[in-house]
Amino acid sequence: MLDSLPTGSSVPPWILSDMQALRAEGLMREPLEILSRSPSEITLPEGKLIDFTSNDYLALAHHWVCIDAAQRAANDHGCGAGASPIVTGHTSLHRKLVERISAWLGQSSSVLFPSGYQANLGVLTSVLREGDFLFSDAHNHASLVDACRLARARVFIFPHLDVSCLGTHLARSPGACRRVVVTESLFSMDGSMAPLADIAEVCKTHQALLVVDEAHAMGVLGPEGRGICAEAGLFPDLLVGTLSKALGGHGAFVSASPPWIDYLFNKARPLIYSTALPAPSAAAALAAISLVQSEEGASLRASVLQKAQLLRSLLRDHGILFSGEGSPIASLSFSHQRDATKIQLFLRTRGILAWAFRPPSVPSGTSRLRISLSASHTEEQIRHLAQSIPLALAEIGAKPESPEPSCQ
Ligand SMILES: *Cc1c(COP(=O)(O)O)cnc(C)c1O
Repeated sequence: MLDSLPTGSSVPPWILSDMQALRAEGLMREPLEILSRSPSEITLPEGKLIDFTSNDYLALAHHWVCIDAAQRAANDHGCGAGASPIVTGHTSLHRKLVERISAWLGQSSSVLFPSGYQANLGVLTSVLREGDFLFSDAHNHASLVDACRLARARVFIFPHLDVSCLGTHLARSPGACRRVVVTESLFSMDGSMAPLADIAEVCKTHQALLVVDEAHAMGVLGPEGRGICAEAGLFPDLLVGTLSKALGGHGAFVSASPPWIDYLFNKARPLIYSTALPAPSAAAALAAISLVQSEEGASLRASVLQKAQLLRSLLRDHGILFSGEGSPIASLSFSHQRDATKIQLFLRTRGILAWAFRPPSVPSGTSRLRISLSASHTEEQIRHLAQSIPLALAEIGAKPESPEPSCQ
């Protein structure tokens, strides 16, 4: 892209050298051009590929009920919300959606954010002050990492899933400060699950607030797809969920008790100073939650988990073990930064798109191949992937690391 600068324009030399360094390390990112998408396939200029990259686990993004709801909302309210929710961006559809989310999750109230990234920034930056303490799992999503940076609190990163280390450091922090522990429930990169009951216990002991980000679990795991907190019978102080993954749409929410929700509506700058979630997205999410609660939702959940299981068992026969057992995420970690990209390119030649994650999404010097399963994948597509992965590993001469043991 840098080659096509208009003549006469100049950029600071450090931009060119930074980009050169990214290229040299094989870390340059450029967007793919998706010409069209169906629930399990995407079409690129090079042709059609089976899509194992989407977090649309239940294939609701293309469900006619969601599309129909979004179209009707666009007719009534327009494509965009026009203003922040604190001005005129909050419609009757938004009100219905927060009521529906709260009823579904058994929570007393909820508030919408335009995205999960903003929800995480909004929660942590409004709850913590300078000098407070924030404890964050080492594998937390970049939106939580950025929220920690912006929150101005003293941040302690605890080793992935390590509750006893968390407890030790909580015990050392002075009681007069606000203390917040933040973790994902189902971790996005490797599909590991947080030991939520133990974390909640340690928070209670040390009077820390617990924030759980259920971005990847909401809709797909737990009873009625209500997530891993629901499965554990746990109500964190603040529960963050997205509408953009298993719910197939866009946007996010935070569920908590009413004073918390009023507080966020008044204090969370990423909510206040950003245009509200568009009404069509609210309508699509309403339809998606109805589907998730229906028998159809139950069978979609069973289907995606069974497909993930099929992939795991086919590859176990080749001695290849994925992390993410019990989730729709199957991932392989490599101790070489370029391995996952090489595998991704090999798989593309076999009509498959799986995603290679490189630093800074994963630790420096490593890479990760992440496969997202969907209820819409056919058994044939999964078998094709299962045959292709061992070929890719052999071709590249790469050996995945053994998955870290999960706490649950
Ligand atoms: C995707 C993701 C987010 C961000 O959600 P968006 O709605 O895509 O902005 C936040 N947290 C986690 C754990 C995620 O995986």
